[in-house]
Amino acid sequence: MTPDKAPALRAVDLARHYAVSRGLLGDLRQGPTVVKALDGVSFALQPGRTLAVVGESGCGKSTLARQLTLIEPPTAGALYISGQNAAMADAATVQRLRRRVQMVFQNPYASLNPRKTIAAALNEPLAINTSFDAAERRERVLQMVQRVGLRPEHAQRYPHMFSGGQRQRIAVARAMMLDPAVVVADEPTSALDVSIQAQILNLLMDLQDATGTAYVFISHNLAVVEHVAHDVMVMYFGSAVEQGPKAQVLGAPLHPYTQALLSAVPALRAQDRRQRVPLQGEMPSPLAPPTGCAFHTRCPLAQARCREEVPALRELAGRRVACHVVAG
Ligand code: SF4
Repeated sequence: MTPDKAPALRAVDLARHYAVSRGLLGDLRQGPTVVKALDGVSFALQPGRTLAVVGESGCGKSTLARQLTLIEPPTAGALYISGQNAAMADAATVQRLRRRVQMVFQNPYASLNPRKTIAAALNEPLAINTSFDAAERRERVLQMVQRVGLRPEHAQRYPHMFSGGQRQRIAVARAMMLDPAVVVADEPTSALDVSIQAQILNLLMDLQDATGTAYVFISHNLAVVEHVAHDVMVMYFGSAVEQGPKAQVLGAPLHPYTQALLSAVPALRAQDRRQRVPLQGEMPSPLAPPTGCAFHTRCPLAQARCREEVPALRELAGRRVACHVVAG
């Protein structure tokens, strides 16, 4: 990584709100309410680095992925891809920037067309987005097939002829065909056998070393995050509650929510075992958000102030934490 390079991806107060009709939920006299699925997330991701985004389901991870891949526009904030603000761009620029951010999904079979050979699937992005002739495209497809650990003859086969791990290799190959600045990987190994997961993670890391592609790695599996991440952002109820270098956030978590997530992960070595911090209750309904700190309904450290004031992210012991109470 070159420190003075522009970030591959930079989000500034990125937000996505949805108007939801409460009439659908039973009371037709009530007007629409606003659900803040993503509520002001900021980070900068340098080329060759991996930011892991963690949190329970409903925390805003998937909404964030849709913003970063330009599938839907943000309600507010800015998103810079290789220095260019996609949130303010015209349609042609958005189209161009979309090629710079590719996605790897949880289920590789669902993301591959069963009627296309692997060669056709990998050729498609090149045919649409580049001026390479057929021979150049064929050459690049074969190079990529081998780069992800498959054999040249695999290129003429169909998705159903591969194992789950091989299909995820193909999905990774397709994501890398256009030399993207960023790959957003949404739980890319959670549908695979444990024995295969490490192979896919190592493939992603090798490709990152070779290409300098930045990754946003969305996962609920903290053991996987520990393996791949440089930086970690812990999300709760649409906002980041703790973010910073992996060593700080996972090695010495400060936010009570991060501590609770980590204490649920079994540790092999006795010295790594943490005191369990119970995570009580469920995440609140987005239709009835709590006042103050969104975590106060489940937090063992909650005080009166927590019910009234939303904690801002502040610098503390080498990371940023949104909590009124914790000290470094
Ligand atoms: Fe818990 Fe209060 Fe900190 Fe929120 S601000 S995490 S409720 S201690």
